Amino acid sequence: MAPTVASVSLVGAHRPPVPTTVRVNFHRIVMENTRLRTSFGAAFPTTMELTQITHEDDLNILGESIPMGASRRLDLGIARLFTHSPVEVPIIIERSTVPGPTVLITAGIHGDEVNGVEVVRQVISHGINKPAKGTVICIPVVNVFGFISKSRFFPDGRDLNRVFPGTKKGSLASRVAHRFTTEVLPLADLCLDFHTGGADRYNAAQVRIAPDDAAVKALADVFHAPFTLVSPYIARSYRETCGKLGIPLLLNESGMSMHLDKEMARRAVDGVIRLLNHLGMLAPGIRVPVPRHTNVLIDHHKWVRADRSGFLHVKVEMHQYVAVGDVLCTISDPYGSKSEPMMAQHAGYVINISRAPMVYQGDAIFNLAVQAPPGN
Ligand SMILES: [Zn+2]
Repeated sequence: MAPTVASVSLVGAHRPPVPTTVRVNFHRIVMENTRLRTSFGAAFPTTMELTQITHEDDLNILGESIPMGASRRLDLGIARLFTHSPVEVPIIIERSTVPGPTVLITAGIHGDEVNGVEVVRQVISHGINKPAKGTVICIPVVNVFGFISKSRFFPDGRDLNRVFPGTKKGSLASRVAHRFTTEVLPLADLCLDFHTGGADRYNAAQVRIAPDDAAVKALADVFHAPFTLVSPYIARSYRETCGKLGIPLLLNESGMSMHLDKEMARRAVDGVIRLLNHLGMLAPGIRVPVPRHTNVLIDHHKWVRADRSGFLHVKVEMHQYVAVGDVLCTISDPYGSKSEPMMAQHAGYVINISRAPMVYQGDAIFNLAVQAPPGN
């Protein structure tokens, strides 16, 4: 059993009262500052600062003015199908009568990562998005085109999460990214974005944060996924754009594309509840789940590749810690004559498993993660 990083207990997390002196629109201050920023290094608000944000004015979004205490469902019209039917991205907005921060919850940027969509659906259906203070904006399916066609991509093959912040006259994906970045994202003080592993890759429940990002690390501690993975920004990703704008984003990865995974969805919804509770936004009556797992900080991970081709028979469990020499899998020919084990060459937590039935030599089949040293 490997040692684990002590985690922060969230139960009974403090709810500092909003100081009466804080009456400025913190969000505007952030945005004014970010206009001056042209590269990384934007200062994220701390968790304490997030709890003190108080938006009292109407929320102006897509031409609508939404007062405090109101509920709205809006549709972001993005394009039309060949048939001329409009394609719209539903946006579900819930505002408390009490001023507070604005949290933007998204999924389906990759259209086939349906378990992320399920997470946001549950947040809405359980009323978790009706905040005790502030505003929660939910967009369960950002890439409606990909969702319809059960694909990660847009119809032209582009990955929405590689074209941020987008351009007004660019590709269809780029135009959607641009509208999202200019019309929705500036309203957010904190973003949560839900993904799964792509293709046959089954991801352990994890939150990804950029290196040296203490403010987002503190939020990840509150969310308390089994793993917090230190992962650099990917160029032109939604997360990178948020980083440049100084808007903290927690990126949750868990499960696999085109699969609904009840346990992974539960872990993610639990994280949302803990985070909203920490910000003082959780509606009364919603139980705050006590984490039964530790939150392991990962700063290094390495893919294990198949050493031969054949049927893949996995012998380890997700989240399991494996030692050097442990059998990870066997790879067999389809004729019943050969079946060879593959052993772990280094120790680590299993944070990704290939669910492909057949693999080629060299295919990435496991990701083993090494815990960061204490104090990181
Ligand atoms: Zn994704």
